[in-house]
Amino acid sequence: MTEFEIIRRYFTGRGTRRADVVVGIGDDGAVVQVPSDSDLVTVVDTLVAGVHFPPETHPADIAYKALAVNLSDMAAMGATPAWATLAVSLPQADEAWLEAFAQGFFQLAERYGVQLIGGDTTRGPLTITVQVQGTVPTGGAVRRAGARPGDLVYVTGNLGDAGLALQAWRQQRPLPHPHGDDLVARLHRPTPRCEEGAALRGLATAMIDISDGLTADLAHLLEASGVGATLDVEAIPLSASFRACAGDEGLTQEQRLRLALTAGDDYELCFTAPAAQRHRVEQVFARFASGCHVVGAIEERPGLRLKQGDGSLLRLSGGYDHFNTVPQGDGA
Ligand code: ADP
Ligand code: MG
Repeated sequence: MTEFEIIRRYFTGRGTRRADVVVGIGDDGAVVQVPSDSDLVTVVDTLVAGVHFPPETHPADIAYKALAVNLSDMAAMGATPAWATLAVSLPQADEAWLEAFAQGFFQLAERYGVQLIGGDTTRGPLTITVQVQGTVPTGGAVRRAGARPGDLVYVTGNLGDAGLALQAWRQQRPLPHPHGDDLVARLHRPTPRCEEGAALRGLATAMIDISDGLTADLAHLLEASGVGATLDVEAIPLSASFRACAGDEGLTQEQRLRLALTAGDDYELCFTAPAAQRHRVEQVFARFASGCHVVGAIEERPGLRLKQGDGSLLRLSGGYDHFNTVPQGDGA
């Protein structure tokens, strides 16, 4: 198969068709119409086999996650995704692999109304780069900077599911059914919180998605905002599947918290909003299955403090940084 046959067979004319796409796959560049009352938001993420996923990961899951992590970044800006480009470097043109890959990609793209409008196809080590573009009403993007003392800290969904699945995979121990399957699905197919992120425009003062672990990602938000925070570790939301598997694995409370706070890969949103707006936040989330929980409060004092049930502070290290293998401090 030539490069052009791959593009035509697996990527052209599939999935969402948007009315605002003037030129899609097949020309030197894609052309889209951006509404005049909107800002354009762009995100890009690369997944490298052996670094971001095991090479033997199912191709549908690889594609799904490559798109999902970008949609999660869009969500964290409060943006609505619209268009995607896909650059793939493939060791060989394996038809079954490519079809499964395309199927995983378009399944998620259709769910969010995103159209694939271009890309690049080359031979090389397995690497997937996805770029997503979308819009927010002019001036409406939610930034990392903006958290103020008196804000509450929220997270959507549950934390630690993906981390526990990854830990079990690394130790080559299958997790028990059916809860283990839930956790593995959370690792391979994270649900981007796009509707939630968009609904938080004008309400959240700052927002970030949790890719590297809550403590590491919240630390970025705090630094950008020039504030600190105290988290109530007892308030960290853990799923029923996480609790069941952690119980079977005999994990201590500290090991559970370490996963939930530092393991990452959950792709939930962490955001802040004034305490006085708590009712509004709850109203917004009444319509979302993901739910959201208050996990702490913003303070003037810099750094991140983790308060336990007895009032003492917990010290943890963790959070993933590709260029720094030294464990990250908790910012305290
Ligand atoms: P050029 O040589 O002008 O860069 P290419 O031959 O790389 O163009 O690509 C031809 C068309 O196919 C372009 O519209 C490009 O965006 C699209 N394309 C290439 N690879 C992919 C891919 N993996 N997914 C989607 N579109 C792709
Ligand atoms: Mg060209």
